[in-house]
Amino acid sequence: MTEASLPGPDNVLLRVAVVGSGPSGFYTTEALIKSGHPVRVDLFERLPAPYGLVRYGVAPDHPKLKQAIQVYEKIAQSPEFTFVGNVTVGRDLGIDELRQAYHAVVLTCGAETDRSLGIAGEDLSGSHTATEFVGWYNGHPDYRERIFDLNHEVAVVIGQGNVAADVARVLAKTVDELRATDIAAHALEVLAESAIREIHVIGRRGPAQAKFTPKELREFGDLADCQVRVNADELELNPASEVEVADKSNANARKNMDLFRKFVDAPSAGKDRQCYFRFLRSPVALSGGRRLQAVELETNCLSGEPFAQSAQGTGVTETLGCGILFRSIGYRGAPLAGVPFDERRGVFSNRGGRIHDAQGAVAGLYTAGWIKRGPTGIIGTNRADSVATVDALLQDLDALRSGGAKPGIDGLYAVLADRGARVVSFPEWQKIDAAEIARGAPHGKPREKFTRVDEMLEQL
Ligand code: NAP
Repeated sequence: MTEASLPGPDNVLLRVAVVGSGPSGFYTTEALIKSGHPVRVDLFERLPAPYGLVRYGVAPDHPKLKQAIQVYEKIAQSPEFTFVGNVTVGRDLGIDELRQAYHAVVLTCGAETDRSLGIAGEDLSGSHTATEFVGWYNGHPDYRERIFDLNHEVAVVIGQGNVAADVARVLAKTVDELRATDIAAHALEVLAESAIREIHVIGRRGPAQAKFTPKELREFGDLADCQVRVNADELELNPASEVEVADKSNANARKNMDLFRKFVDAPSAGKDRQCYFRFLRSPVALSGGRRLQAVELETNCLSGEPFAQSAQGTGVTETLGCGILFRSIGYRGAPLAGVPFDERRGVFSNRGGRIHDAQGAVAGLYTAGWIKRGPTGIIGTNRADSVATVDALLQDLDALRSGGAKPGIDGLYAVLADRGARVVSFPEWQKIDAAEIARGAPHGKPREKFTRVDEMLEQL
């Protein structure tokens, strides 16, 4: 149905801008298109390549998780959809300009920065965020030039979530285990020369509170040349943790405990590398001269009710010598000019996806995904979350369309051209995609990513 042939004002074609083309951006698009209302969705992405965290966050040796891309490719084929790649909202276009051109704007830009530990020495050379390392081995252009000096025997990973597991596993794997993945060539080269022989993955709470999913933890038992090590003493649980593990809602913790116990008993097979899981330890300072040489860890005990236990320092410390350290303690959203931001939670201030300021809901402004609720859950969690935001948006439909027709992206191309922005369309991204696949093939890789924006644009 064309805009001109629509029957009446109630059927004004709904124009929605979605900002950020990761999972929540695509699931928001899908929910809007499936709503049955006449709609056009323009999906803005600051890089020429779509898919956000699926392309740049999911570990290269987890190709199954990247199959979500096939769903997104299908959504992108919808006639209601336009990809607006290589355009940064907040730089090339202001949020107010978007609000004028669209009935609604949904911000799905994820959680791009990291929480910090707030301890002495955190910024020493050799101390990195997991985000930088993950972005670097996944070929994200922002992290292309980062340098990771793996010419040390001991690496420390702070945090026991799935990102920490990804970082530790990539450090633990042999180059042959990574070669046939889509890991960036520059990272494979550095990892091939890695001198790291010990990896310590440090949790501030106990084994029952580790946030790994069992599937991710299990993989440590199957590494070609890395022995996983757990100290039996550290698996003893306090009464509140016993209650947590026995709770029927907590199957993951039970499975993790079984795995940790297996790791204690695993026969030593003379492997070249060792990966230690340590519990009840918090980093209190990083030390070194020009660069990191050690981390001081304080032993903790747990206090509080089951499922609300926190780590309390005991004053007992130990020093662990290390040459490189990764802080993997959770992501945090970044603010965007003109959008109310909840500094404490690191998300856009919102209620059920409607962005709120001190006066109440901001008309036409919505959010979904990690920047709405914080960095939790798996890729699929974002589908329900995006559907909930779209439900809220559709409840506001009459008010949103009351001002009549909106131009959408057609009203913005000229502005973008004036500002020198080189918009990348979906068919153009597909050219880049095909070129990446072609250059990966001779190396047995699913793709060799272009890791600089210029290189991507050269393919067009
Ligand atoms: P996460 O699961 O929230 O884990 C963060 C870890 O950092 C926890 O162990 C936490 O301990 C610890 N931590 C937080 N603040 C700390 C501090 N000040 N000092 C020491 N430790 C601290 O976050 P994530 O690993 O970044 O993962 C984000 C989300 O992505 C999760 O939902 C995860 O499952 C998902 N993800 C999934 C996959 C996959 O499915 N394969 C892969 C990667 C990521 P406490 O528990 O004590 O707070």
